[in-house]
Amino acid sequence: MRYQNLAEAYEQLESVSSRLEKTKRLADFLKNVTDLPRVLLLLQGRVFMPGDEREIGVASQLAVKAIVVASGKTTSQVETLWKKTGDLGKAAAEVVQKKSQSTLVSSHLTVQKVFDNLQKLASMEGQGTVDRKVKLIAELLSQASPLEARYVIRTVLSDLRAGVGDSTIRDALVWAYVMDPKYDGKKIDVDREKYTQVVEVVQSAYDVSNDFGTVAQLLKKEGIKGLDKTKMTVGKPLKVMLYQKAQDIKDAFKTVGRPAAIEYKYDGFRMQIHKKKDVKIFTRRMENVTKQFPDVVKLVQDHVRAKECILDAEAVGLKKGQYIAFQHMSQRIKRKYDIAKMAKELPVCVCVFDMLELDGQALVQTPFQERRKLIEKTIKPTKFIKPAEQLVTDDEKQATAFYEKSLQAGNEGVMMKNLESGYKPGSRVGFGVKVKPVMETLECVIVGAEWGEGKRSKWLASFTLAIRDGDGYLEIGKMGTGIKEKPEEGLSFGEMTELLKPLVLEEKGKSVKTKPKIVVEINYEEIQKSPTYASGYALRFPRFVRLREDRGPHDIADRKEVEKLYKGQRGRA
Ligand code: AMP
Repeated sequence: MRYQNLAEAYEQLESVSSRLEKTKRLADFLKNVTDLPRVLLLLQGRVFMPGDEREIGVASQLAVKAIVVASGKTTSQVETLWKKTGDLGKAAAEVVQKKSQSTLVSSHLTVQKVFDNLQKLASMEGQGTVDRKVKLIAELLSQASPLEARYVIRTVLSDLRAGVGDSTIRDALVWAYVMDPKYDGKKIDVDREKYTQVVEVVQSAYDVSNDFGTVAQLLKKEGIKGLDKTKMTVGKPLKVMLYQKAQDIKDAFKTVGRPAAIEYKYDGFRMQIHKKKDVKIFTRRMENVTKQFPDVVKLVQDHVRAKECILDAEAVGLKKGQYIAFQHMSQRIKRKYDIAKMAKELPVCVCVFDMLELDGQALVQTPFQERRKLIEKTIKPTKFIKPAEQLVTDDEKQATAFYEKSLQAGNEGVMMKNLESGYKPGSRVGFGVKVKPVMETLECVIVGAEWGEGKRSKWLASFTLAIRDGDGYLEIGKMGTGIKEKPEEGLSFGEMTELLKPLVLEEKGKSVKTKPKIVVEINYEEIQKSPTYASGYALRFPRFVRLREDRGPHDIADRKEVEKLYKGQRGRA
């Protein structure tokens, strides 16, 4: 399949903002796609499956070099164009355009060729890596049409800007292969009940497999029935189940029923652990962090009595036998060198709170209390790996005492879980809820910043926060408080500047726009209605609490959550 077809589809998607219109265009495109697995990954802006350790890993400067090599322009010419358009993809398109008028492009780019070259970028190491990477990208650019060049560069930089999120892709698959709703340019006319059911089945198949390619192929060949064949595979990450919030113990019982399981809510790092011949560890964002945790691999090999299984757990840092705060743990996640030393200095305790598969049997439909029994049977508990501390009760007093005990032990709060529920990957169904005493915080993503003034002029000093809205982001405020001048005192302006610099998409005067990647936890005094920001809300006195390296921009607060928090504020209910 020609890459030009895909590039045209990206452009079509980029040029409209209505979600229905995007869905329609994507569905029409997908009907004729032959190379579904590759195309669907590329539509998500990626060339590796979730859980694959490899990353394209190309910085803007390297992409500039490749454009220079392919176009014969100078670096400063390319950089000027980049500044002018605010988009290196468009800059590439412009110089490629000039070139393709003078030389005849002899061969066409194929989806496979682009895919293969981008994958190769990830496996390069050692001497001469930069030159070889430049060559691979330049090779694509020199065969590319301007439109193709635009999207090759954006894919390389993981900044596709075509605006299709998972939910649009899911709906487009439904429209393309299952039910094609009548669409009049504004709304769809469809049997709602059936449509919602079909969408749910496709979503579940995706949550379990994380693989739109396979889902699409099955749908195309066998229709919705075909999705019965998607199943979880030990070794491949799946989306984790999420939990709702409850106000207090009483409220929690209302959601999960009585009796319920009440567990410590450990303040650590969520791990999905897959044991087969090898052990693999994934984050809640499905990144493979096995290398960073050789100690956990060993614990699982020695203390989990199963040939194969998938565990859901929280790894908490331990120092002198005490649980330590999440921040310290994040050092282990980022660590590339001296991993063994770090594992000794900052050991973790793996608290296992769920099990999704055991020796060939999927447990997602098995009631929670049965799963818990299996956890207890399978894990030989030690100081470093054990089932999560749990009590089953229908009594508020007992539950409250357990909650207090949990807080005293240094935990964040408690989780309360329905005993009969299954495990629903990717969903925030009310099978379990969390209860925490702290004031509400909000997770936001940084989408821009401003250079400071005076002694802060070398740093980015004010940060634009955004919440999620479907596949896009809406601004909700600017924050500088809570970030420190000196690194010894906490996260510093200098560190934040370094984090954001590679993500800068556009710079105008003192302001920069950044790729939405850095997730921060914020507290605030109040949420107000405000016309200043696109979300329609503004945070009063937002203050930085901590970086959430374990969260991606998809995991942050969305408009609905903010609306709920706004309404729940004193006097507004
Ligand atoms: P939150 O991060 O506030 O949405 O709370 C949910 C998170 O708490 C989960 O994603 C887990 O990482 C963590 N957690 C800690 N202990 C437990 C537990 N016993 N059961 C479920 N989740 C837990």
